[in-house]
Amino acid sequence: MSSPVKNAAGVRIPSTYKTPARLTDPDVGKDSIWVEFVGLTNKHKALNLGQGFPNFFPPAHVIDNLTRNGDKYLLNQYTRGPGHPPLVQALKKMYDPLLKREIDAMKEVIVTVGAYGSLYCAIMASVSEGDEVIVVEPFFDCYAPMIKLAGGIPKFIQIKPPTDPSKANTTANWAIDMEELDSMFTSKTKLVIINNPNNPLGKVFTLPELTAVADIIKKHDVMCISDEVYEHLIYPGVEMHRMATIDGMWDRTFTIGSAGKTFSVTGWKLGWCIAPAYLIKNMNYVWQNVVYTSPTPIQDACADSFMIELKKRDAGDKDCYFTALADELLPKRDEMAKLAESIGLKAIIPEGGYFMVADAKDMKVDIPKDFYDDSVPWDHNLARWLIHDKGISTIPNSAFYSPEGQKENNHYLRFCFAKDEATFKKTHEEFEKKF
Ligand code: PMP
Ligand code: GLN
Repeated sequence: MSSPVKNAAGVRIPSTYKTPARLTDPDVGKDSIWVEFVGLTNKHKALNLGQGFPNFFPPAHVIDNLTRNGDKYLLNQYTRGPGHPPLVQALKKMYDPLLKREIDAMKEVIVTVGAYGSLYCAIMASVSEGDEVIVVEPFFDCYAPMIKLAGGIPKFIQIKPPTDPSKANTTANWAIDMEELDSMFTSKTKLVIINNPNNPLGKVFTLPELTAVADIIKKHDVMCISDEVYEHLIYPGVEMHRMATIDGMWDRTFTIGSAGKTFSVTGWKLGWCIAPAYLIKNMNYVWQNVVYTSPTPIQDACADSFMIELKKRDAGDKDCYFTALADELLPKRDEMAKLAESIGLKAIIPEGGYFMVADAKDMKVDIPKDFYDDSVPWDHNLARWLIHDKGISTIPNSAFYSPEGQKENNHYLRFCFAKDEATFKKTHEEFEKKF
C-alpha cells in the first residue's frame, strides 16, 4: 500500500487521488480571469473599471422587494425547482411581446442561479462527448470551459474589425464572415453560441446579420444558445433583435437572461432560460440534480420587481428601468471613450452593454522586462501593470479569445462604464495625474 503524499500546505493527499481528467484541460483547470483580476484589484485597492458590475444602487423598489420578504414565512423555504411560480409568470409577461409568442410559463422557462446556471444547463442539455460547438468570438469566458466539461470541442468564429482601421471605432463595423462561419460546420457540429449584445465588444447584431447566422444554423440543422443578458442596454441608432424570433429559430434556441443585468443586482445571481419545452425539460434534468432550485427570496423579489417595471413598460413610462438604465449609461459610455482617448487608447464605441473595448497598441507605457510574463498575452501584462503601477483596473480583452484568437487580439483593454459619478471623477483625476 502506498502512503499519502503531503502537499505544500501539509495536507496528506490520498495516494489514490487523481484530479479528474476533465479538470486537467488547460482551459478548465486554471484560475479564471475574474479570480486573478478581482484579486489584483482588491490587493492594490485599484480604481475598478474591470469586472462588470454597476457600482450604483438598483431602483429602490428592487431592494425593498427583497428586504420585506423576510415577513413571508414560506419564502424562507424551497420553492418549485425550475422556477418560483410568480417569477416564471412574470418572465412570461416580460418575454411574450419580446419573443413574439405565448410562452408557457411552466414548461418553457427555467430559473437558475445566474445566467451562468442557464448556460451550464443548456450546454449540458445539448452537447455529447466529441460534439463540436461553434462559439462567436470574443466570447464570455466561461463558454469554452463549460463546453469542455460537457465533453465537447469548441471552435471559434471571430467578430472581426473592418479592414479599414479608420472604421474600427464603432462596433457597428465589426462583423462575422458568414462564408467562414458556414465552412466551419462538420458532421459533429451540434450547437452555435452567440452573445448579443456581445461582451466584451458591445456589438449588437443587426437583423440581416442575425438572419444570416440563423440561415446557416438552420441549413446545418443545429441548436443555438443566444446569451442576451445585456438585452436592455441598447444605445440610440440600433435595435435589439432576438435570435428566437427569427423564422424557424424558436424550435432550436435557448434564450438566456439575467436579473443581475436587468436590475443592476449582479450579486443576486439569478438567471433564466426561455426555450421550447423539450429543451427546458432536459435542462431541468441537469438543474434538479446540481442545484435543484434558486433561492426563494431572491426569486420572489425579482418577480415583484418585474411586475412593477412591467406596469411602467405597458404604460409607456419612460422611467421604466428596462429603458431608463441605457439612457443613464449613454453619457457614461461617451465619457469613458473620451477618458480612454485621453491616455492614448483608441475607443471602439459599443452599440450595447456596459463595456467599452479600447485599442492600447499605441499607448505610451513601458512594462518593465522583469515584470513581463511571457506566458500571457501583451494586453494581459498591460492590464496587470496598470493595476500595479497606476492603480487602475481593467480587463485584458484577450481573456475573451481562444489561444488562436489571442494572436491577433492581444492589444485591447475592456472598461466597464456602469459606474457612478464619483468613480468618473476619480478616473478623470487619476488619468490626469498618472499618464
Ligand atoms: N453572459 C454574459 C455575456 C455575461 O457577461 C455574464 C456576466 N454577467 C453572464 C452571462 C453571467 O451572468 P450572471 O451573473 O447572471 O450569472
Ligand atoms: N460578467 C461580468 C463581466 O464580464 C463578471 C463575470 C464574473 O465576475 N465572473 O465582467
